[in-house]
Formats: sequence, structure tokens, C-alpha cells
Amino acid sequence: METVQGNGTLGAARRAAIAAIDDARNDLVALSKSIHANPEIAMQEVAASAACADFLADRGFAVARGIADLPTAFRAEAGSLGPRVAFLSEYDALPGLGHGCGHNLIAIAGIGAGVGLRAAIEKLGTDATVAVFGTPAEEAIGGKVLMAERGLFDGVDAAMGAHPGTVEAVCPTVEGSGQALACQAVRIDFHGQSAHAAADPYNGVNALNALIETFNGINALRQHVRADARLHGIITDGGTAPNVVPDFAAGEFLVRAATVASMNDLVAKVRRIAEGAALITGADLAFLMPEPATWDMITNVTLARRLKRNLDAVGLRMPEARAEEGSGSTDWGNVSYMVPSVETAFPILDRVCTWHSPEVVAAADSPMGYDNTIAVAKAMALTGIEVVTEPELRDEIRGEFVRAKAARGA
Ligand SMILES: [Zn+2]
Repeated sequence: METVQGNGTLGAARRAAIAAIDDARNDLVALSKSIHANPEIAMQEVAASAACADFLADRGFAVARGIADLPTAFRAEAGSLGPRVAFLSEYDALPGLGHGCGHNLIAIAGIGAGVGLRAAIEKLGTDATVAVFGTPAEEAIGGKVLMAERGLFDGVDAAMGAHPGTVEAVCPTVEGSGQALACQAVRIDFHGQSAHAAADPYNGVNALNALIETFNGINALRQHVRADARLHGIITDGGTAPNVVPDFAAGEFLVRAATVASMNDLVAKVRRIAEGAALITGADLAFLMPEPATWDMITNVTLARRLKRNLDAVGLRMPEARAEEGSGSTDWGNVSYMVPSVETAFPILDRVCTWHSPEVVAAADSPMGYDNTIAVAKAMALTGIEVVTEPELRDEIRGEFVRAKAARGA
């Protein structure tokens, strides 16, 4: 904490942010515990969303609920005009497991940061806006995808969030760290013609064969994709009885790649494979993309470095980041194409463990979990102060954002 100082108005603003978060600490932890004790899965986070929005409304934020046609999304804003900093909170749980991803902590990290930055802006007496977004359904449809698509993050100079992790958690401060794969869900339906599989199979059109040929085609494609591509699927419908030619077969696939552009190329190839399978079997194809894609994550390293410096300043030390290919996908990606973004990780365990597990459920309601979440809220608030008060930093963040998008052809 020693380094959270400084002279004059800026120092006072930094101290005001820390003091506001310390004052709110017990309430923040109580809020997080209530979300943890009552886990609600994606799109059903009614109590969690309301509790988070109420928390901020009670502290003077102007709250809009049900934004982007998502009943459990919200935006809470304070301040006016000027530079704009956003913190993103999540609160959905995992079916059958509860808070095995620690989103009850993500919720209060964003809210705590918002409360802190608001106090700092008041102290600064400057035009600036702080927004906390409640972003539902990270584990399912990805609420941020729709919120980004609807322009809810437009005008934001810096968007920050924090995700719990193990002792290996890092803040993505180096080029090539903090990546996530673009991901498109695809559903493939084939309609054929049923027939007795032994008596008159020649009258049948086998929808399952079309789906199997689709898998074979995708397997043939694998030789010709980049190392970052991921193509994986399951058969959800494959017929009803072995003596009946299946007149319906369906599969669900995920197509992932390092950028949206290369993911879209792959989706087009998968579509042609399915069309080919329809052609050789005579089945009719429905190629469906039930949800909009999540995009790859463009981590703003300039912003991440400032955040890391503040994480160090509040005593939350983590290993150094290193360049690493993305593996999973996140709806943060879509935000990161709209506005400069960073999602840092932070440890809630002093060891490595399997994520989405009962161990994480326990860690998400542990003293270490809460301590580090409060610390990360402080670091995000302090970083928000820098964004608000340093025009040259905003320019640098914006410049990197524009270059990184251009490098992806966006
Ligand atoms: Zn998560």
C-alpha cells in the first residue's frame, strides 16, 4: 500500500479511491457471498443482477437495467462527460456446480472499482465518467457479445475487468499474452428419408451418413488449418433405431481460430463440407449459426501495463506474463474489438487446480479470494484515475487499439 501515494489532487484522488473501496469492503464481500450462496446460471441471474445494480444505485450511480434486450444486464454510471472508463462485472454460475468460475468475485471487482473511481473523480473535480456494466451469461451465450453489438461500450476510453485464477494467474502485459480464440457455434441438420434399413434401404436417404461425411470432411480439413484452429463437434441426433434409415441427423460444432477473419474462413469451409455431404447423400442441409460468434481477444498491453503497476502497488504480486496462444474463448473478445480492453487474471488459490471444479467453488468464497478481489478492485480504480487524468496515456491506448485492429484486418 506504501506506493499508493502522491502529492496534490492526484494523490488525494488515489487515496479517496482506496478509502472508498475499504469503506465498502464489508458490503462488497456480503454481496459476493450472497451471489455465491444463490448461484444462478446464465440468463437467470435475476437476483445477482438486481443486487449488483441496487448496490450501485444506492451509492449514487444512475442505473439502466435490462439493456441490450438482456433482462439481467445493466449499466451503472456516475460522473459526466469527459474521459470514460468502464468496469465489467459478471455473475453467472455453472449448471450443477455453482460458482466454479468465481464470477461472484468478478462481480464485486468491477463494482468495487467503480465505487473507488467515482470517489476519485469527485475528488479530482474533473469531467469524467465511470461506468460499471453488469454482463450476464458469460458461460453461455455471452452477454457481452450482444452488448458490444448494440454499441453499449461506444465512447469508452478503457474497459477493465478481472477474472479469478490459480497461482499461475497473470496480468497480460506483454505482446502476445492475454489472447483468446474467436469462436463460432455451428449447428448442422440433415433431413433425409426414412426407410426399412433391410427391407427397402434403396428408398431411404440416410441423414446420418451425411453427418458422418461432414465429420470426415472436417477431419480432412485439419491438415490444412493453422495451428491455432480448433474444430470440434458432437452428434446430437443420429437416428432412432438401427433398422430404420435415419431421416434426421444433427450435430453441434465449435469452430475456433486466432482471429475473427480466419475463423470466418474456416466456417465457410465447414459449410462447403456440409454442402458436399448433402450432395453425395441426397439429404437436405440446414446450416445454422444459432448465436453470434465470440471474437478473439485484443488485449491492450499499454492499459495492461498500467494495471499491472497498480496491482503491484496494492501488493497483489503475480508472475510475469508471457506470450501464449489463446486456448479458450470469451465474450470479452467482442468488447475488445469495440474499445481498448484488458481482462487481468488474479489468484484466488495458492496452488494450481482444475478450473470449473468444486475446488474453485470453495476458493471463490475464501478469505484469499475476497482479499485479492478487493486488491484488484483498487488496482483497477487507480488505473482508471490514470486514464482519466492523462490525455497522453489515452492517446497511447487508443493508438495501440487502432494498430492491433488493423493488424487483424478489422
Ligand atoms: Zn469465468
